Amino acid sequence: MNHEVPVTLGVRKGFRGCSVDLRACTRCGLPETYETIEFDAHGVCNICNSHSTRRSKIDWASKEAEFVSLLDEHRGRHAYDAIVPFSGGKDSTFTLYHLVTKYKLKPLVVQFDHGFMRPKLRENNEKTFRRLGVEVHTFRPNWKLVRRVMLESLIRRGDFCWHCHTGIFAYPMWVALKEQVPLVIWGEPSTEYTAYFGEGEESVDEERFNRFTNLGMTAEDMATMIEADFDLDERDMKPFTYPPRDLLRDLECRSVCLGSYMPWDTTSQSQLIQRELGWETDHVEGMPPDLYGFEKIECWMQGVRDYVKFLKRGYSRVSQMAALDVRNGRMTSSDAYALVAAHDGRKPPSLPIFLEYVGLTEEEFNSIVAMNVVSPHEPDFGSIAFAEPMPDMDAWIRDSSPL
Ligand SMILES: [Zn+2]
Repeated sequence: MNHEVPVTLGVRKGFRGCSVDLRACTRCGLPETYETIEFDAHGVCNICNSHSTRRSKIDWASKEAEFVSLLDEHRGRHAYDAIVPFSGGKDSTFTLYHLVTKYKLKPLVVQFDHGFMRPKLRENNEKTFRRLGVEVHTFRPNWKLVRRVMLESLIRRGDFCWHCHTGIFAYPMWVALKEQVPLVIWGEPSTEYTAYFGEGEESVDEERFNRFTNLGMTAEDMATMIEADFDLDERDMKPFTYPPRDLLRDLECRSVCLGSYMPWDTTSQSQLIQRELGWETDHVEGMPPDLYGFEKIECWMQGVRDYVKFLKRGYSRVSQMAALDVRNGRMTSSDAYALVAAHDGRKPPSLPIFLEYVGLTEEEFNSIVAMNVVSPHEPDFGSIAFAEPMPDMDAWIRDSSPL
């Protein structure tokens, strides 16, 4: 165990990969560079505070009754009862399991294949689909285009996942239109997507898509940015666009999250799908192998994604997960700090694979990321060494052909 302690009460110290001290929550240890964070007079963050209030206020029994009547409205009336967007991660797997076994729905599973699905994920998917007896629609976008837009998205926003954010979000809505199925059911509300068409009570999907999900860049914007050096067929951009609002209105399409209608407990849900479906956990770069093996196992670029975030904001996903455990009373603050000390500030061995995809040297990559750093954090690129490679890394497809 590393003896340096990067977090003490209220301060996250300059540490491997970080040149400066950051103010941090006195409870969960998240730093001031965390998205939307604010601290109260006791130095406790708004995420900790809202977490304590949310749980007690919602009447889950009436929420469930609302959900049952929504399903009753749709069951048996269309080619499928619902579209279920599916990544194969713990949340969408649980969602599918729950809808099929508890509510006896006939869903169409829609899987947007971002191009980086790991071997364990594919095995898990096979088990799930076979055991639940569901029909599956998988779509994979043009890989050459994916490489080019990853580069553009990294340069413009310091986030290379534009194709994945937009495709996962928008593509299932196109399938809903094509199949004329007016109900789309997502999993967890905070990471996914709640929306509503027809009565106008909830935020409109398309607005939310354009404000947050697409990082402020539409497919038309993206086309303009890349067309000078990329042989673009504009039809390849369609999966990344949100379907026209009038078409979704005509269908009276509703897009909801299961997690809006039931309390979401990732730990017990992960245990359930492991037990009932044989779903297996996996190692993820930058994460302790014996903890959190159920989180973000979908994508072999997850380590690079987390690394970019670490360079920009000075904290890793270990910090985020440990903060959640502290908040839920599953871990003490000092154990969380020790975990962060052991795992933060390591370079993922998948970085060279990513650099090949986008045609950058590490120096070029660092200088792009440096332009997106969130103040007052300052990354210290020189102090970061490679972490251990993942066991399945040989199966991760490499591609260094010219863009
Ligand atoms: Zn906090």
